[in-house]
Amino acid sequence: MGTRGREIVGMDVKKVVEILRKAYADEWLAYYQYWLGAKVAKGPMKEAVIAELTQHAADELRHADMVTSRIIQLGGTPVSKPEDWPKFSNCGYDAPEDPHVKTLIEQNIKGEQCAISVYKNIMDVTATKDPVTYNIALQILQDEVEHEEDLQALQEDLQDVLQQKVGVGR
Ligand code: FE
Ligand code: FE
Ligand code: MG
Repeated sequence: MGTRGREIVGMDVKKVVEILRKAYADEWLAYYQYWLGAKVAKGPMKEAVIAELTQHAADELRHADMVTSRIIQLGGTPVSKPEDWPKFSNCGYDAPEDPHVKTLIEQNIKGEQCAISVYKNIMDVTATKDPVTYNIALQILQDEVEHEEDLQALQEDLQDVLQQKVGVGR
C-alpha cells in the first residue's frame, strides 16, 4: 500500500486502473498471438519470422508484467480470468489460423498499430497527472514502435522474396 505514491496521482486513480486493466488484457492476447504464431509459422524466411515473433512474444509478456505491477501499486486488481481478456481488450485477438508468414506478419502489424494508439492515449491521459504510469506507457510505447518497424521491414523483405519467386516462374 504505497499511500503517498497514490496521493500524488492528480487524477481519478480508478480511471487509471481501468485503462491499465484494458492494456493488461491486450498484452496477454498479444503475447499468445505471437507465441502461437511463432510455433505454427510456415513459408519463406520462416527462420527470421520465427525469431522476430518469439522475441516480440517475450516483450509482450514483459509488458503485461509492467502493467500489472502498476495496477497493483494503484490498489487495483488485474483481470484475473483469461476468459475476460477479450472483453477488456482494446486490440482483440487475431488467431494465427493461417500459418503463412505473410498473414502472420499482417495480423501482428495490425496489433502493433493498435497497441501504439493505446499507449499514446495512456500517455495523453496521464501526462502531468500520473508521471509513473506515463513513464511505463512511454517505455512500452518505445517497444511497440520498434515492433511495428521490425515487422514492416520483414514484410518488405518478404515481398521481395515472393516477387523473385514469381519472376523465376516466368
Ligand atoms: Fe506490448
Ligand atoms: Fe508489441
Ligand atoms: Mg523485434
